[in-house]
Amino acid sequence: MENDLKTDESVNCLSGVGGARKALLERLSIRTIGDLLVHVPVRFLDRRSIAPIAELRPGIDAVVSGKIVSVARRRSRKGPSLTAVLSDDTGSITLTFFRSGFPGSKLRQGTGVVACGTVESFRGYTIVHPELYFSEEAAGAVNAPGMLPIYGLTAGLTQRTMRKLVVFALDAVRNSLVDILPGDVIAAAGFSGRWDVLRAAHRPDSPEEGKSARDLLALEELYLYRSVLAAVREKNTTKPGIPLASVSLKEFESLLPWSLTAAQKRVCLEVRMDMAGKSPMRRLIQGDVGSGKTVVAAFACVVAALAGKTAAVLAPTEVLAAQHFSSIGEFCGRFGLEVHLLTGGTTGSERKRISERLLEKPQSILIGTHAILEDWVPLSSLALLVIDEQHRFGVAQREKLLACRSPEPHALVMSATPIPRTLAMTFYGDLDLSVIDEIPPGRGHTETRVIDASGKSDVFRFMMERLRAGERIFLVYPLKEASEKSDLLDAATAYEIVRSGPMAEFGTGLLHGSMPPAEKVAVTQKFSRGEIAVLVSTTVIEVGIDVPGATVMVIANAERFGLSQLHQLRGRVGRGGRNAWCFLVPGGEASRVSLERLHLLESTSDGFVIAEKDLSVRGPGQVLGTAQHGIPKFKVADMSTDGKMFQAVSEMSPIPLQEIHQLIGCQLWRYFGMELSGI
Ligand code: ADP
Ligand code: MG
Repeated sequence: MENDLKTDESVNCLSGVGGARKALLERLSIRTIGDLLVHVPVRFLDRRSIAPIAELRPGIDAVVSGKIVSVARRRSRKGPSLTAVLSDDTGSITLTFFRSGFPGSKLRQGTGVVACGTVESFRGYTIVHPELYFSEEAAGAVNAPGMLPIYGLTAGLTQRTMRKLVVFALDAVRNSLVDILPGDVIAAAGFSGRWDVLRAAHRPDSPEEGKSARDLLALEELYLYRSVLAAVREKNTTKPGIPLASVSLKEFESLLPWSLTAAQKRVCLEVRMDMAGKSPMRRLIQGDVGSGKTVVAAFACVVAALAGKTAAVLAPTEVLAAQHFSSIGEFCGRFGLEVHLLTGGTTGSERKRISERLLEKPQSILIGTHAILEDWVPLSSLALLVIDEQHRFGVAQREKLLACRSPEPHALVMSATPIPRTLAMTFYGDLDLSVIDEIPPGRGHTETRVIDASGKSDVFRFMMERLRAGERIFLVYPLKEASEKSDLLDAATAYEIVRSGPMAEFGTGLLHGSMPPAEKVAVTQKFSRGEIAVLVSTTVIEVGIDVPGATVMVIANAERFGLSQLHQLRGRVGRGGRNAWCFLVPGGEASRVSLERLHLLESTSDGFVIAEKDLSVRGPGQVLGTAQHGIPKFKVADMSTDGKMFQAVSEMSPIPLQEIHQLIGCQLWRYFGMELSGI
């Protein structure tokens, strides 16, 4: 039968998987045998210890064993139902089934049964739709007593099918598995090899063994990811790039309205060195909000354009594109360079003009959203691509974008998230890292306060005062529209209230993610110019809005945000040299722990300290804000709970390039959609 299958072979190769089942598995992102094997159970039922019925309590996951003493079928307005009473030596419990969940004729008086499920209290204790194992089956290998895996499923698949397939898959790959983690790491966790780890993840002998196997698989996944990134980086150092003649930093600085901070200078020099090198630059610039990353990007653009090449700046939103156009445009304009703005909203005639200008004069700077990557844009002289705010690109996407041009352009990625070192190693290991760890002088101080219910009216008075002084206010809400269940005030409702209240005379506006891009830009610009003094918004303002006149930010239901996210948000105020205030208003249901967490923001403004705290409390997901950062969705590892593992991975030396090639051959299933052929 199916012996010696490889993990990258289709689930089709397993007996019992035909077209229909294949489609169902696909819904769970399971396409290959490897996918199936890393579809680890969400939990286990510990059937080693069968509970005496008399000891059951509501809420526990129980496994009980006994005989059916009676079966009753009922019909009510809600439809048919069936209850069976199961008894052991100590007592009885009912098993309840509605409509579709009938166990059929198997459930008869006198039948021996093992039932698993959560005990509920309803006219005595009951288990609704328990999993049932009839005595004769319980002896079979697949459903042997012990730890019973419970899988995440999709409609049409049963636990039983899933268990059977996993057992088949485990059997099938027994002789073909190659270890990925170093042998000593596997041995230290008490396993004999990768097969043993997979076996234990699905059919452990104890809950502890199941947990350590699952953890090892998560570690393996992160380790593989980190190793792939390291390989990408190593490969990039051998590719031919576009060495660009250097520009004097002094001269650049002499055209700026202020002098560069020491950190900005250092990073500019690192960038300049990269761009003069033989292979393409891959650099991540990390710096807290307001640390002045834009000018570094502008410097890189100037280096490219003065060398006769095109520089492109890719922004995630139209708002940011417009903003970069004005700031980078201003810096570059001083060097007599031409700067173009191209977004989805750019008109046909303007597109034509940009295209003609770029052909005629490639030594310019093109700023925009994804539209700049469209085929019609003449970018044959592209020598630099700046990607703002980590965009939503995965590594594969980015590398593909760059590798399709020859020679490969330099790439500069800018992130406003201070990322703890351990995370950076794991997630951005394909990039060289520059950190701008200094805030330009002359900044006002931002005072942060956590406000309780009694402080709200003071905050309101204070806001009115600032408005009369001609300053501007952000009111931030976690949601655009509250869901039915939630009693949270959402941005749209809050806006209605503000608009009809005393603040209305200063001009109010609403900004949220699902507005058409042009409207977003319009509202932001009005706020920037001061036509609107109160901007009610969701977190869309998080990404890079620069409004120097804004001095107050009030964040509602602040406990719902991660600390790093709050830190990002508050970085939007106090940019104009004036002092600023950030008020964190927790919701009524905020826990004491979450309030304590918020207080950290009162005492520090160091993004790295805040990120470390987030990392220790809630895991990398909080720090990175997940989906926005182009980090793949891991199959086993969980960014909210596996924080420690990210640290562990950063301390391991990655799999060498030669070996990773072989591994990737049979591990590609891990990174579907990840084009690794280029590395
Ligand atoms: P971010 O790193 O958040 O993108 P920006 O590049 O938008 O920060 O810079 C924030 C503000 O600081 C801008 O208004 C910019 O003009 C100003 N700025 C940047 N560098 C300096 C500097 N060296 N001295 C004074 N102001 C600066
Ligand atoms: Mg910025």
